[in-house]
Amino acid sequence: MTDQTIKLQRRKFLRILTIGSALVPMSGLLLHTPALAQQEKLSEDDPLAKSLNYSHDATKVTVKQREEDQFCYNCQLLQGEGGAWRPCQAFANKLVNENGWCSAYVLKT
Ligand code: SF4
Repeated sequence: MTDQTIKLQRRKFLRILTIGSALVPMSGLLLHTPALAQQEKLSEDDPLAKSLNYSHDATKVTVKQREEDQFCYNCQLLQGEGGAWRPCQAFANKLVNENGWCSAYVLKT
């Protein structure tokens, strides 16, 4: 093996190492992309939200179906622990307010 060959292999190795180092943080970004998409808050103007009478503030809901003690925070469909905004099984990839309500409400058991 000549000195020239060793230099070329060393450069190739360093290039691969550099590219690999750059890709590691990017792979983390890709893994977190679905989580970031899930961070979007549900809009009260969302067509599905409107059809289910969703409100960020349950006390403002005028639908007779809602009982006074019904809030997202005690609904079976709310996911996660803690935090004012959390995922809800009724609204994929959107966050609902824990003090909200919609007509898909199911009492948490
Ligand atoms: S299904 Fe439950 S947690 Fe989801 S918006 Fe309706 S009341 Fe809130």
